[in-house]
Amino acid sequence: MTVRVAVNGFGTIGKRVADAVAKQPDMKLVGVAKTRPSFEARLATDRGYPLFVGGAGKLEEFRAAGLSVAGTADEMFQNADVIVDATPDKVGREYLAKYQSAHLKAIFQGGEKPDVAEVSFSALANYDAARGKSRVRVVSCNTTGIVRAAAVLRARYGVDRWDATLIRRAADPTETRKGPVNGILPTFQFPSHHTPDAQTIFPDLPIATTAVVVPTTLMHVHVNHVRLRRPPASAADVIAAFRETPRFHVFHSWERIEGTPQVLEYARDHAAPRSDMMKNVLWEDGVHLNGADLHFFQAIHQESIVVPENIDAIRAMFDLAADASASIAVTDLTLGLRA
Ligand code: NAD
Repeated sequence: MTVRVAVNGFGTIGKRVADAVAKQPDMKLVGVAKTRPSFEARLATDRGYPLFVGGAGKLEEFRAAGLSVAGTADEMFQNADVIVDATPDKVGREYLAKYQSAHLKAIFQGGEKPDVAEVSFSALANYDAARGKSRVRVVSCNTTGIVRAAAVLRARYGVDRWDATLIRRAADPTETRKGPVNGILPTFQFPSHHTPDAQTIFPDLPIATTAVVVPTTLMHVHVNHVRLRRPPASAADVIAAFRETPRFHVFHSWERIEGTPQVLEYARDHAAPRSDMMKNVLWEDGVHLNGADLHFFQAIHQESIVVPENIDAIRAMFDLAADASASIAVTDLTLGLRA
């Protein structure tokens, strides 16, 4: 079976998901919807993706820009089995009734409230929960990072308590009007919204998150302190556990990766598309075990970490793979994440 996928909203997440869908052997990208002509609308046509006019967008504006348009988003919806909604925060919910009345399956992103979907999703954590579902929400970038790590630590060692401070990037690189440009902004919410979000996937995860926004666009960094129930002998065991799991990259000490600039330089050096880093990034030197107390840093590339999760969500909704491992294997092979 080939699933016909349409992407509504062709921005940071939408364009990456569209590229990923186009690489899947069991999916066909039937189009992407954009509200206004822009360099990203042009990218769609340069890639040969059928471009549709979404939202309150005007066909004439696209034509005046010389962009070849295949029709309206409503027409795109008619040719699809599933919509990946990658519109801005809270806009996805406005489309819910439309998707439902067109009997379309839909994937929403982390900027929507959990009740927009039947289940919140992250492939390593709860693939089976999305099997056959009509509406799935891929949790946010930070939450994806947390629940991937939780999937490893819970299964291997058990988690009695987890405190995480999320050092959040101020904006994506193209968001030139967001800040802060200079300053450190604590989020005065205890716990931060990431705690209930992670618990949409692991309801009993004993985690408490706090968040601070800092002037960078590159990645988020999580500072984690986890009390393990069955601690291993050494930090090396934990490092090995992460290395054995797909979607984790643990840098060696000798690689001298000081922080997020070198992480993305590494991605550029290895010709990763857009220098994306879709895996959780850890450092050997950044994992420390003291008895049952595990401390580790992880960096999260906000622009790309949810991309493989969207692909696995589609596979789960249409039962295209035997299990999570089978889906993750195909996704990671096609997206170049197996190395
Ligand atoms: P974005 O602003 O980069 O892209 C949104 C796209 O939707 C743009 O192309 C915009 O033109 C289009 N759009 C706006 N209104 C529309 C409408 N009414 N109909 C159709 N299209 C419309 O946003 P993004 O960063 O890609 O975020 C999309 C979703 O992904 C949000 O829920 C966000 O919370 C989530 N998310 C974002 C990040 C991130 O760091 N950027 C990470 C994980 C999840």
